[in-house]
Amino acid sequence: MSAGPSWARSQELYARAVDLLPGGVNSPVRAMTAIGRDPIFVSQGSGAEVVDVDGNRLLDWMCSWGPLIAGHAHPAVVEAVTAAAALGTSFGAPTMAEVELAAEVVDRVPGAEMVRMVSSGTEAAMSAIRLARAASGREKLLKFAGAYHGHSDGLLAEAGSGVATAVGAGSPGSEGRTVPPAGVPASPGVPSVQAAATLVVPWNDREAVEAVLAEHELAAIIAEPYPANMGLVAPAEGFLAFLREHAERSGALLVFDEVISGFRVARGGAQEREGVTPDLTVLGKVIGGGLPAAAYAGPVELMQLVAPAGDVYQAGTLSGNPLATAAGLATLELLDSAAYDRLESISRALADGLREAGREAGVPLHVSFTTGLLTPFFHEGPVRSYGEARACDLDLHAAFCRAMLTRGVYLPPSQFEAWFPSLAHTEEHVERTVAAARDALAEVAR
Ligand SMILES: *Cc1c(COP(=O)(O)O)cnc(C)c1O
Repeated sequence: MSAGPSWARSQELYARAVDLLPGGVNSPVRAMTAIGRDPIFVSQGSGAEVVDVDGNRLLDWMCSWGPLIAGHAHPAVVEAVTAAAALGTSFGAPTMAEVELAAEVVDRVPGAEMVRMVSSGTEAAMSAIRLARAASGREKLLKFAGAYHGHSDGLLAEAGSGVATAVGAGSPGSEGRTVPPAGVPASPGVPSVQAAATLVVPWNDREAVEAVLAEHELAAIIAEPYPANMGLVAPAEGFLAFLREHAERSGALLVFDEVISGFRVARGGAQEREGVTPDLTVLGKVIGGGLPAAAYAGPVELMQLVAPAGDVYQAGTLSGNPLATAAGLATLELLDSAAYDRLESISRALADGLREAGREAGVPLHVSFTTGLLTPFFHEGPVRSYGEARACDLDLHAAFCRAMLTRGVYLPPSQFEAWFPSLAHTEEHVERTVAAARDALAEVAR
């Protein structure tokens, strides 16, 4: 192994950036703090690879955290965005592409009859919750520890993703408690009344859900059906159907946040794959194909409550933006059944290879995967909850990520995230990654 890549220009940019941007970045996990190094500044991407400002070519399994299911700069997406830009970047008036994209969503997603487009997953989840509260006439929410639904006040409680990364493995959180106390704000600046309206229970814990429902009238139960923001943690057999049944019985709406799983784990998302239809669906990431777009959707009778059809107010200057809808439509067009077969086989091959590499190196490594998503947990045995995810060997994970970077492989820089195999990843990329992992694990396991 040579001396490895130089990151001199990234270092220079980072030194400038920390004086101009909080922590030098515009979203916390990018800072790479959790893996104990400074961020890498990227200059371009193509297919499954990015090139950084030092000219290093890196194989990318992070793919912008999920939107790039077609890989970087897919020609069809670039062409669609370029053509749209030439016709005007924003109108603040309705366009044909919005109608076409809504029709695509309705065609694919079982729970979607009508769609409202917004610009980020945060905005979509926040707006879906407003609608659920208006429809039910109730205020309280149930969410799961380690699930991430964006950074709005009421949804930050015990959130995964960057929030989990910032908190680290320190406090035990709500895991282990059967009936949680009223939510504690996850960030300074979140009003305690907001936090108090959010009840948090461990994922896959039926008794904890029942205990909350026995005590509180909920507006909504919100869940990532395939949680991927504490690493990928599958729902236990029957757990989603259990949520469906108990939401119904208690008069709460069931909201599936499919910002990651939507259009990724199957054509119609996790709800199609699992045969459990929520009342409201939150979409993001893939729907914008790498540009800012997101949406919430549901049956007509609920969605008709949204203004101007109804009186639940929600609006956006750039909602349904022409460039974002063009990128979304071009991306969805690539997602036929052959595409999901490819995503499945690439994800499986990667999971098998990493599992084998872990065994060889003698490190505790449990690889969780589904179509288009994967997390290698540095954990003995399966991970079923946020508590178990936080029990992973975070230092070993950090050393592994650093060692992979020096071998030209860019991974999501936190244990509490998923890798995002795309249509641009090939068997050769899998082999290269597994070879690098074997080498890296041998180094870090010493
Ligand atoms: C990324 C994510 C969000 C937030 O989306 P943004 O576009 O980053 O605001 C919400 N929910 C889930 C499940 C996500 O993964």
